Amino acid sequence: MPVDLPLGGYDNWQSRLASTPISDNILSNPILNSALSQLINSGRITKETGFSLFDSTPLFSLMNLANIVKEARYGKLVFFNENLHINPTNICVLACRFCAFRKGVRNSDAYELSADDFVNRIEPFSPRIDEIHSVGGLHPTWRIEHYEQLYANTKEKFPNIHIKSLSAVEIKHLAIRSNISVSQVLQRLSASGLDSIPGGGAEILVDSIRDRLCRGKESSQEYLDIHKQAHLLNIPTNCTMLFGTIETIHDRITHLTKLRDLQDVTGGFQCFVPYPFLADNSRLPEAKLSTGNDILRVIAVSRLMLDNIPHIKAYRMNIGDNLGQIALLGGADDIDGTVGHEEIMHSAGSNTSLSSSSQDLCKLIEQVDCIPVKRNSIYSKFEISKYSTPELIDLPLLV
Ligand code: SF4
Repeated sequence: MPVDLPLGGYDNWQSRLASTPISDNILSNPILNSALSQLINSGRITKETGFSLFDSTPLFSLMNLANIVKEARYGKLVFFNENLHINPTNICVLACRFCAFRKGVRNSDAYELSADDFVNRIEPFSPRIDEIHSVGGLHPTWRIEHYEQLYANTKEKFPNIHIKSLSAVEIKHLAIRSNISVSQVLQRLSASGLDSIPGGGAEILVDSIRDRLCRGKESSQEYLDIHKQAHLLNIPTNCTMLFGTIETIHDRITHLTKLRDLQDVTGGFQCFVPYPFLADNSRLPEAKLSTGNDILRVIAVSRLMLDNIPHIKAYRMNIGDNLGQIALLGGADDIDGTVGHEEIMHSAGSNTSLSSSSQDLCKLIEQVDCIPVKRNSIYSKFEISKYSTPELIDLPLLV
């Protein structure tokens, strides 16, 4: 059943917030109370308050406030989509220290999908997905023509499937390899079928940290500039944050502030996707690593700080289904997705199920008393899934 919703949730979320009954655990905490007042009065919390929220608030109360803000925008609704992840190659000319996915070109596990392989990978999933999410390594020889072919072939066979593809560093790499500008890359790929850009590769937007984590990758400013170029061409993008490596709370706040500042200018970010570093014994031994408390705290603070980015995602491929469910009660309004196939997080140790159906996702959302809503990739079409519990469909959508 299709439903009408404003793109970013209800514009009057501040007045809805002002009329929401607030519990004592929030009102009696000076930091949470101050954050609430700032949101009601100006719609925005300061960087200093963001830091204090991370550093010195009780988790349950922080999540409680983030959930109230989420519900002021979307009520009990939680969004998901039916998608398939495809990683066209794991060969990469860089070697980011947190990355378990990349392989050197001579590694026996290295692979590269041809344009036909790519389309064939979609075929069995095509009746039940409406989005391809595709990112991969920086291939040493592929130029823009390879991706033009990939997207054109995909659109020819599956014209209704949305292509969300390429991280900022892949776009920069293609521009260099093809000797054209970032803007030209985006325009040519958009003409071939690219519909939107995921947010991967932001890591932490502080160059001193990037230098230690992923030397050779795009700088913080380049990440922002590439997304800005996309927004100026009306290509929507998402943004991400990799945390639990070597960053400080100050670095996280700097990261969130840079995204918020760019969004003030362009409005082109749809969704923020925070995810923790998944450790193994071989990579980044100095990583601080995130506990469940830290993961939920990042999601809650993101909801409170990123007032101008409409959606905050619980990325179940990385944080798992159980923590993903809890995140839906602490600021996240979106959970990704049916996914089908995924290599980047699974190479790093994720064991999140890849065979979840729409029905499974609806169940997962309903188990925490939320209402599942299937969305399209650009949050412009919404429908109550046929798998939703019938009684829920009769509930008022926004409470
Ligand atoms: S994170 Fe991306 S750019 Fe870095 S090594 Fe892995 S695949 Fe390459």
